[in-house]
Amino acid sequence: MADWHSESLASILEKLGSSVDGLTSQDIEPRLNRFGHNELKVENDTPEIVKFLYQFKNFFAILLILGGALALTSERIDPGQGNLYIAVALLAVVLLNAAFTYFQEHQSERIMDSFKKMMPSMITAFRDGYPQEVPAEELVPGDVIVLNEGDRVPADGRLISASELKVDNSSLTGESEPQLLDEGKSAAVELESPNMVFSGSLVESGEGKVVIVKTGMSTIMGSIVQLTKATEAHETPIHIELKHFIKVISFIAILLGVSFFAVSVAIGNGVISSLIFAIGIIVANVPEGLLPTVTLSLTMASKRMAKKNALIKNLESVETLGSTTVICTDKTGTLTQNRLGVNTVVLSGREYSADDPLVSGATSFQTFLKSMSVCNNAYLTENDGFVGDATEGALLLYARNHADVATLRRVQQIAEQPFNSTTKRMITVADAGDGPQAFLKGAPEVVLDMCDRMALNGDQVPLTEERRADVIQAYRQLAGRGERGLGFAARACGHNEVPEKGYVFLGLTGMIDPPRPEVPDALARCHSAGIRVIMLTGDFGLTAKTIATQIGLMSEKGRVVQGEELSAMTDAQLQEMLRDEPEIIFARIAPRQKLHVVQALQANGEIVTVTGDGVNDAPALKNADMGVAMGVMGTDVAKEASNMVLMDDNFATIVVAVEEGRTIFDNIKKFIAYILTSNIPEILPFIAYVLLEVPLPLTVILILAIDLGTDIIPALGLGAEKPETDVMKRKPRPRSEGLLSRNLLLMSYGIVGMVQAAAGFFTYFTILFSGGWQWGQELAGSNPLYCTAITGFFASIIICQVADVIICRTRTQSLFTVGVFSNKLVLVGIASELLLLACISYIPAFNTFFGTAPLEAWHLILSVPFAVAILIADEVRRLFVRRGNTFVLRWLTW
Ligand code: ADP
Ligand code: MG
Repeated sequence: MADWHSESLASILEKLGSSVDGLTSQDIEPRLNRFGHNELKVENDTPEIVKFLYQFKNFFAILLILGGALALTSERIDPGQGNLYIAVALLAVVLLNAAFTYFQEHQSERIMDSFKKMMPSMITAFRDGYPQEVPAEELVPGDVIVLNEGDRVPADGRLISASELKVDNSSLTGESEPQLLDEGKSAAVELESPNMVFSGSLVESGEGKVVIVKTGMSTIMGSIVQLTKATEAHETPIHIELKHFIKVISFIAILLGVSFFAVSVAIGNGVISSLIFAIGIIVANVPEGLLPTVTLSLTMASKRMAKKNALIKNLESVETLGSTTVICTDKTGTLTQNRLGVNTVVLSGREYSADDPLVSGATSFQTFLKSMSVCNNAYLTENDGFVGDATEGALLLYARNHADVATLRRVQQIAEQPFNSTTKRMITVADAGDGPQAFLKGAPEVVLDMCDRMALNGDQVPLTEERRADVIQAYRQLAGRGERGLGFAARACGHNEVPEKGYVFLGLTGMIDPPRPEVPDALARCHSAGIRVIMLTGDFGLTAKTIATQIGLMSEKGRVVQGEELSAMTDAQLQEMLRDEPEIIFARIAPRQKLHVVQALQANGEIVTVTGDGVNDAPALKNADMGVAMGVMGTDVAKEASNMVLMDDNFATIVVAVEEGRTIFDNIKKFIAYILTSNIPEILPFIAYVLLEVPLPLTVILILAIDLGTDIIPALGLGAEKPETDVMKRKPRPRSEGLLSRNLLLMSYGIVGMVQAAAGFFTYFTILFSGGWQWGQELAGSNPLYCTAITGFFASIIICQVADVIICRTRTQSLFTVGVFSNKLVLVGIASELLLLACISYIPAFNTFFGTAPLEAWHLILSVPFAVAILIADEVRRLFVRRGNTFVLRWLTW
């Protein structure tokens, strides 16, 4: 075992059988076999049994257990009345429901895990002498890797070289200040040694080259047991909505149960029969299938989204996206392709297009090429590509067309300040044999500020105000065409300095980053969906505005706010501006200013989705309602701070995901409308039983058969309903619009539920009277006439629910627009519903269990007119909705 931090680098490399140029590809396989993959096998700390028991904590389960307990009590007081049966059935329901929900959650966890595997963390490693992107999992001891800003350190390693490398070790040491590393220093304790990096820390800034010494579970991180605490539970909008829904429904159930128990006892019914009655009411009210159905439809949506390149980390955040009112987006890579190419070069006040051979005649061209190649951390690869930053890669590809890049880069590097989005520049000090020189590149105005001379036709002349203005003019010219400007400068310097001024300005490049073709359409969809899109970019205002108008993000009148202007604003001013200006973009802003914008929008009551890729974006990503990280360009830090990762970095994918989120909310609403409706024909029989003193028209067991049997698959089918054509034409859902709206209750309880109950009673009494029953006559539970009549009631509910599931499929559109047969799962649901009805009515074993009897054809036909009425009336209602009828919109639209 070596002392990784105190021995010399040479001896460590020797012990690892490696060199500063890394391993060869043949080395990898045997080392993987010997040391294993570089992964942390995280123990899940919540035992499965606890997770299972959690399922009993919800209100519905408690209500049903309460019902079971009541049934047990009546069994004790008056044994042999079948109450034991009900008690057992209820407890079985609770168990089943818990098992199903538990299974669903387990499933969804597995899916979330599989999503994680789809976004492997990649790292640059030297293999066969070339830098390559490899999955962090495949690193082995002896590998030489490059760490960049935003990387998560993949394994423990010893520094070979570092420039301004700062790492955040807080996950290991709890120390929140980032540590400045130095390959030349070591400390007594390995963990405090500045020449070491450790798995799990984050690279705050800078760059470094590292040889891996330990991987996987042998790292320090691996030895710390409890490392991945689940991210703190965040209340998502859908979670809040569901909790509210459960509360309201449970309240109704208890209120009805208790008050009718009291009424029943008061009018002289026995305590026992009143108890049964209370249980019936409670059971009828609880939508037993709701929770698993919600989880299932969220899971299905997350899978659909994954297919479209949007990976979510938490199931419920699917819906958060749907309620988004503002999307704050990056420009580079998200709206544009991040496929940069140098388009224009400006040297000595003359503009050249990229393929113009005359440029080589320009006097400062060689120095210019040198500065763009040396002050650069990307690498060219064999097949005309590059590894590293897109801007820097584009520069190398340009330089390669005019000179030999390898020769240009043959210098001894002395110091470096890598690019970051806050300083907007990069400096490299290097010696090519003629003394140290500093090379600078960055945003043109930043570079100009650091210069006092410029190269002009072979001379170095003072950078007068006039010449400065000329450069700025040339820069504006580029920007006006949507090109991204970069300035270059150089100067001689001393050995131990990284100069901040006194540079000689060399020239400009203008790069084109074409917009993604799908973006204009996606933006148009956002606008019609009432979602504001705000661009937040580090780029120059004019460039940003040109691109923004090109892609239709804003019009010429739109306002560009520069970073400086933003930092001068108070919170109140910023909020006011965001409220008053319809079209706005932010340019030249530092990443931390993103957070200000996000918070100001939230203070205005907006639900904010924000995109990001860099380390500094993490606060904004964490604080937004929905943080979206870039899967390709994004750093590990950004991915960790976000709720969703875009595998293709594409803005259009966010819009697709928003649509999916809105659809989910609609669909949950649809199946709530559906399952609530049958509550009315389930409750009213008990009320009739007490108030009218008729034989109980529907038994508790049959209620359960509906809630947990026939209703379930059709409800799931509604969860799979495709988006209605208007989902992206509506305004975002107001915060006040919950799942359970007044109109939804009015429609399901007040109208459709009542029609269903009417169908039930009509069938029930028709069968009774036709069998010779007279009002007031009591019937025993085993009387064949009674059994047929309750089966008739049950059948009517099912038949009407078939109509109900069809009308619930659309909120506004005609059934014929979406297609009668377009939702297969609903069709399967209807078939299953009818099949179950057939079993319960015609199979003798079922008859005994449910207390039912075979129905004749005419019994079944009695409720059909009611079902047809439901279908037709709702089709007409939706016609009025589409026509914009005020009364219907106000009262009958849910
Ligand atoms: P964005 O990603 O929104 O375009 P950035 O923060 O990446 O903004 O870039 C801001 C500005 O910094 C760019 O307009 C460009 O002038 C300059 N810049 C970008 N990349 C580099 C780099 N690698 N080195 C030096 N300057 C850069
Ligand atoms: Mg960028």
